[in-house]
Parts: sequence; C-alpha cells; structure tokens
Amino acid sequence: MANSVKCKNCGEWNTIEGSGKQKCSNCGEIIQDPTKERLEKIKKFKQEQLDKWMFTIHEDDSPFIKFGKKTGNMTYIVIMSIIGFFAWLAAVLPL
Ligand SMILES: [Zn+2]
Repeated sequence: MANSVKCKNCGEWNTIEGSGKQKCSNCGEIIQDPTKERLEKIKKFKQEQLDKWMFTIHEDDSPFIKFGKKTGNMTYIVIMSIIGFFAWLAAVLPL
C-alpha cells in the first residue's frame, strides 16, 4: 500500500515512493526529507543528553541557579583537568 502525505503548503495529496527526498507534485514544497529528519533526531538526542547533564543552564532558571550551574560546570572542568594532568603525569613519569 502506498503512503500518502498531505502537502503542508497547498494541501495536495502526494504518494510517497521510497524513503528519499520528495517534493510536492503540485507546488514543489518538500514533503519528505530524510536528511532533515535525521538531523532533527540528532539534535533531539543532543538536547536529551544536555537535559540529563545536571549543570545545563536553562532559560527559565533563576539567576541563583544559573550561577550555581556555571560554578558546577567550572568545577567539573577544573577537576577533569587536574585528573587529566595527573593521568598524564603518571604516564610520563618513569616510575
Ligand atoms: Zn504542495
């Protein structure tokens, strides 16, 4: 069974063939774009990862929370740098 997609621009029904990029037969509006969909999925995935990260700053955070998160981020970076430095030191020192 063929898939039909209604064009958002002109309302024309188009038959979807395959999974490639497809334009409306009536007005040329893009009705299917796998590349765009993939990019949006990646974007969504990145956003989800950021949401999980406890120090991600949100627009609706209070100034105090924003400050706390910024400090948290800085602390994390500093700690990671120190750990990285010691890891490097351990690797180069002839123990
Ligand atoms: Zn159209």
